[in-house]
Amino acid sequence: MRILLVVAAVAAMAFQGRIREDFENYKMHAIPALMYHSIGTVPEGWSPDLCVPPAAFEEHLKYLKEQGFNVITAPQAMILLKSRQNVMNTVILTFDDGYEDNYTIAFPLLKKYGFLGNFYIVGKDVGLVTNQVGVIRYMDFSQLKEMHRQGMEIGSHTMSHDPLTTMKPNFVPWEIYQPLNLFYEKMGFWISGIAFPNGAYNDSVITEIRKYVKYEYGFSGQPGCNTLKTVTETPFELRRAGVYDMGRGSEDVGKVLRKCYIYGYLEEKGVPVRWIDKGRQFLQKVSF
Ligand SMILES: [Zn+2]
Repeated sequence: MRILLVVAAVAAMAFQGRIREDFENYKMHAIPALMYHSIGTVPEGWSPDLCVPPAAFEEHLKYLKEQGFNVITAPQAMILLKSRQNVMNTVILTFDDGYEDNYTIAFPLLKKYGFLGNFYIVGKDVGLVTNQVGVIRYMDFSQLKEMHRQGMEIGSHTMSHDPLTTMKPNFVPWEIYQPLNLFYEKMGFWISGIAFPNGAYNDSVITEIRKYVKYEYGFSGQPGCNTLKTVTETPFELRRAGVYDMGRGSEDVGKVLRKCYIYGYLEEKGVPVRWIDKGRQFLQKVSF
């Protein structure tokens, strides 16, 4: 009996070791993408989910530097994955909505650490200053142009920011092609990426995007990692997870990275992670 127990324990340890090795192998060909919005203090009336204070953001960047992460653009990541290189410790940082603090705060910090960022801009909001829920400023074309000149990726977050899946279907084409034209006209370069407002997309949205050859990739709101399979088979459903400030500095970003790798690994093994996440969100809603 004792021998059987020892054999079982050794087998379990070997199995665990094998999974760990397999997981580490997976990380060599998987790139997570993290999603930020405003890098600033939370204005009154705003959801804290949309803001990471500058000091916390710098903690995140410091952590990525210390861990030896290579922080690159989405097009660069797609090239690396397609060339089947080892991409261990590579990450994509994305910023949605085009808030001016992305230029005044995030951009200089990214440069300080030698990192590149990806900024997804709402066409109708470029250069806008609104005073609805406090003053909100958005980046203008000259700021976006300068960031692009310094290697940052600029992409579309549609024209209106309304979710593409709930609007009248005849508005969808305009939401998709108009930023291509507008950004080219105002900045002189073609964008190649889109991030879906609220992460919402469906088959007809993807069919519409594929009509415009300038678009090469799109970000969904599904957690996980991007691999050769993702970028070749579903380039308009790239995986991405939000980073929020929970007041724990670098731990906040480390936790999201771990989640991306684990979800990506499970997905590669055929586990329906989309449903796990939906179930988890449901449980969070109903638990009190
Ligand atoms: Zn958005």
